[in-house]
Amino acid sequence: MAPSSAYSEGSAGDAAGGVAKRGPQKSADGKFIGRRKVKPKQLAIINDACTGCSGSPVCQLYCPVDDCMLLRPASDAIPFGRIWVDPLKCVGCRKCVTRGPQDIFLEGCPWAAIDMIPTGEWETEHGELPY
Ligand code: SF4
Ligand code: SF4
Repeated sequence: MAPSSAYSEGSAGDAAGGVAKRGPQKSADGKFIGRRKVKPKQLAIINDACTGCSGSPVCQLYCPVDDCMLLRPASDAIPFGRIWVDPLKCVGCRKCVTRGPQDIFLEGCPWAAIDMIPTGEWETEHGELPY
């Protein structure tokens, strides 16, 4: 069965109906905001190992894109919920999964709760992302 709908997870995106301004823009704290021009080859997704870091997700600190990683309630991750990655904002930079030699934790998720998947694989399951 074909994917029923494309991206529908609540990104601000172009929801206002206007034409989104594209290209790199930065917020006051230096994070990228808005969408990137080029569709990334891979996207970060969160697996069931995410604990929400007791309400203070460390992954959010490393993600360079504003509001890309959002902590949301999850019925199987009470009380802190689980991170959700906005697929329209993720640039596939891998900073949230960065590890050093021999898998030593450097930065990013310490619980291996983030997987990088090909963007095409994401779109096969959820529908084409509306760039
Ligand atoms: S891959 Fe980069 S942009 Fe995507 S969620 Fe991880 S840190 Fe953020
Ligand atoms: S993805 Fe990893 S770092 Fe981010 S909240 Fe979940 S467990 Fe913590």
